[in-house]
Amino acid sequence: MCGIFGYIGHRKSAAEIVLEGLKVLEYRGYDSWGIALLESKTDETKIIVKKKVGKIGDAKISDLPAGHFAFGHTRWATHGGVTEINAHPHLDCTSQFALIHNGIIENYDEIKKELEKKGHRFISETDTEVAVHLIEDNYKQLVTVYQDRQTAFRESVRKAFKRFAGLSAIIVMDSKTNTFVAVKNGSPLVIGKGEGENLLASDAHALFPYTRQVYFMEDDELVMIDKEAISVYRLDTGRSKTVQFAVLNWKSSNVQKGRFPHFMLKEIFDQPQVLQEIIHHAGGQVETLHKLIKHSYGTYLVGCGTAAYACLAGTYLFSKIAKRHIKFSVGSEFGYLVDFLTDKSLVIALSQSGETIDVIEAVKKAKEKKSKIGSLVNVEGSTLYRISDTPLLLGAGVEKAVVSTKAFTAKLAYLILVAYSLAENPAEGKKALLTSYKAVNKVLEETNLKIIRKLAKELIKKDHIYIIGRGLSFPVTLETALKIKEASYLHAEGFAAGELKHGAIALVEKNTPCIVFLPNDETYGASLAGAMEMKARGGKIIGISYKPHEIFDEFLSFDDCGAASIIPAAVIGQLLGYYLAIARGIDPDKPRNLAKSVTVK
Ligand code: GLU
Repeated sequence: MCGIFGYIGHRKSAAEIVLEGLKVLEYRGYDSWGIALLESKTDETKIIVKKKVGKIGDAKISDLPAGHFAFGHTRWATHGGVTEINAHPHLDCTSQFALIHNGIIENYDEIKKELEKKGHRFISETDTEVAVHLIEDNYKQLVTVYQDRQTAFRESVRKAFKRFAGLSAIIVMDSKTNTFVAVKNGSPLVIGKGEGENLLASDAHALFPYTRQVYFMEDDELVMIDKEAISVYRLDTGRSKTVQFAVLNWKSSNVQKGRFPHFMLKEIFDQPQVLQEIIHHAGGQVETLHKLIKHSYGTYLVGCGTAAYACLAGTYLFSKIAKRHIKFSVGSEFGYLVDFLTDKSLVIALSQSGETIDVIEAVKKAKEKKSKIGSLVNVEGSTLYRISDTPLLLGAGVEKAVVSTKAFTAKLAYLILVAYSLAENPAEGKKALLTSYKAVNKVLEETNLKIIRKLAKELIKKDHIYIIGRGLSFPVTLETALKIKEASYLHAEGFAAGELKHGAIALVEKNTPCIVFLPNDETYGASLAGAMEMKARGGKIIGISYKPHEIFDEFLSFDDCGAASIIPAAVIGQLLGYYLAIARGIDPDKPRNLAKSVTVK
């Protein structure tokens, strides 16, 4: 999940360039960070490493000398606590190599034992450190086999990487040859070609200040980078291969918070515009998805976290509007459900980043079965975008807050349009979205925000919040609970309202907050009954509905927009999550333990 940024070139401020690059990528992981820089003096070259625990935020580095060759990493710890020692880069015993890593080396234990026997000294608890020592070990032998040091270095990395189990990307800096070698399987890496300088990063946006000429590394490729050249090799044979660089004409991602204190709030407020864009410009993409689904023999939606709840909403939308049975699975479970897939099946993967490893793995499994792959993704050029047969863009704009909001709305909007299109009634879909656009604008009015802020101040005194809804509102209960958990760390749980009496109601006591979603649809009466049952046991009822009701202790309203009512309802849930975080003094843009794109299993 980490952020990676590397620079080699004519500029002397490599460390600062890397620091700024890492700040752009901070959403990818932020428990600790580190930079390695090659200090070049005429008599010796030395790798200098600086590491720190905590967010990179507005960190400055004044104590690093000038240099042309540096890389850095923001960590999302998997193996070993969040400490300065465990932060990357890691060095080998001779300090010739520095290494940063994204992912997990699953067989690190056995390799570590072997290397320890050979006398290698380990100082961290990470899986990562074995990589740099194994490369050192390989190099000792290979430098006598190959004439030039660059080849020995490259082959040492290749040989090491081939031993690693699991999904990883590693980048190694060699102080002897002034070269980076990058190799990946699973985790994203983009190479940038500049004028007298070359760069690499885990996200293309971070490269934009320097170049738009990029190459998205494929799995099982190894890239060697120095100041002048970028060469690509196959991991299996070590042979060089020719690749094409793309020139990206994406809009700059240098988005600012503007008048908003946090990206999360800004992105919540971006939603009317996102909806408007989709209403006016999604026609072609909706048509494409419509055709894909129509011609497939079984369609499966796959996503993780927020995207999973959008998928679940999709199953209700397709059933209700398009009268189609469409299955759904969370990405990490999909691999256990693939036996029934055929070459006629269609898998539609939903992801904001397009880098979610559980979704990418699911898609790869479906590809093994020769199924068709469609995707709805927000980041153009991302791994999911590239491996899909039919990639479609959500067009929600850059989403920076770790807690996803507008990408969710965009997914729902697409699913609504496609469902109506399959029902041969696309105009109705547009109409519903247009009403939801107006309804979201109303939810975002100050009078409404005031009510949510006041409610949030009360709710922070509670330990648990229960949320119920039926039908299309069920995924919204799950998404609202997720927003509350992620942003404010309060325990919230969403339920299908009917399930309440099968267990969870035992948890309701006097003044337990119970949120109930009550849209103007066939679920109203039965969900209201669920709210009554909670009320009868002392629950404090917070109704989120298109009309008030006497049993509500608090009432948050949205305008009825038919099936698209899930959009304003979800926005209320997002705002509740946001204001609960603020009331608890938490930064909702970077919640603890989370990262924006989840690239480890
Ligand atoms: N597994 C490595 C660690 O825990 C890399 C984590 C990451 O991808 O940031 O240090």
